[in-house]
Amino acid sequence: MNEITINVLNAVTKVLGETDSYLPLHEPEFSGNEWKYVKDCIDTGWVSSVGSYVDRFEHDLQDYTGANYAVATMNGTAALHLALILAGVKPGHEVIMPTLGFVATANTIAYCHAIPHFVDISEDTLGLDPVKLDEYLSEIAEFTNKGLTNKKTGNIIRAIICMHTFGHPVDLDPLMEICKRWNLMLVEDAAESLGSTYNGKHCGTFGHIAAISFNGNKTVTTGGGGALLTNDKRFAERAKHLSTTAKVTHPWLYIHDEVGFNYRMPNINAALGCAQIESLDKFIIEKRQLAGNYIKAFEKVDGVSVFTETEYAKSNYWLNTIILESPDVGMRDKILELLNSKNYMSRPVWSLLHALKPYQNMPYMDNLDIAERMEKTLINLPSSPKLMRIAA
Ligand SMILES: *Cc1c(COP(=O)(O)O)cnc(C)c1O
Repeated sequence: MNEITINVLNAVTKVLGETDSYLPLHEPEFSGNEWKYVKDCIDTGWVSSVGSYVDRFEHDLQDYTGANYAVATMNGTAALHLALILAGVKPGHEVIMPTLGFVATANTIAYCHAIPHFVDISEDTLGLDPVKLDEYLSEIAEFTNKGLTNKKTGNIIRAIICMHTFGHPVDLDPLMEICKRWNLMLVEDAAESLGSTYNGKHCGTFGHIAAISFNGNKTVTTGGGGALLTNDKRFAERAKHLSTTAKVTHPWLYIHDEVGFNYRMPNINAALGCAQIESLDKFIIEKRQLAGNYIKAFEKVDGVSVFTETEYAKSNYWLNTIILESPDVGMRDKILELLNSKNYMSRPVWSLLHALKPYQNMPYMDNLDIAERMEKTLINLPSSPKLMRIAA
């Protein structure tokens, strides 16, 4: 076995200790009021799609993030789908997004019968590269009487979805400036970044609309769940309406004024969320300490670096990430094999979206160098907050 592989194992062992039980990338933790609030739902019969915990959870999210409005949904994908509808994404429109990302994001574009247009990322943030994006738009886009149009395909380019990869904020200021100049809606896929900030302001409060996920592997969980954040009252009201089968408020009549969805978060899930958010600050402190320990342990490991936040960002370090200096899939796989065999769950990054079967005929930037390099060199490591306590 080569030296880098052994050194990576030693560094991970230094941080996490040796373990007989398998350590997942991210495990949920219920050590606060979770049982009490969920029991309350069962005791009172309020388990389903309306109830006081839903309202409370939405308020908690507003308070925590500083967003004017939060609308809880059944998962993050549903929140993203609603966000694109609110952003005015229509069949045949193109939506720009990074090729390095989770498939759910591209899927929500497809649900709108729109076209994902894949672009490269920055190695500083692992999210959209504003400089490269701006140059690319100058090359491929022009304003016509239809709006911003892709010169090659003739399609309208309606929106950009940025994603804060593994909790690390993208460079939002230049991105927002680009959206303004090119007249594009900005949707933040903040699924992974609850508790991360950019220049002191929470991720998910920069774009026109943002989506968060509370899936079981995220920083806080509601079992399954999501939320849409926005500062625009009309967006919030329409999101609530669309997620509630577009039902018009009336004491008894079933009137639905458009095709809506059943995307609401059930009360029992929101109860879990209310308890989880009480622990969020503690989770983030512990996750950042764990990241600090990884950074220290890998300092002397040649050929590998830990991905760290930029100076304008405070990351929740949802998933800790190491990057091999040189692209070597064989070595990456050896490291993955060794770490997993020692009960440290580790994974490569998602397969690039522009190469996946459902999306391989979609438009993409010719130069996807950084995303392609990350696909070959990136490894995620166990990142649950409790690992800080176990190792200590
Ligand atoms: C988790 C995740 C989603 C989807 O959220 P769900 O709640 O699982 O539907 C979307 N985008 C990204 C980047 C994610 O990590």
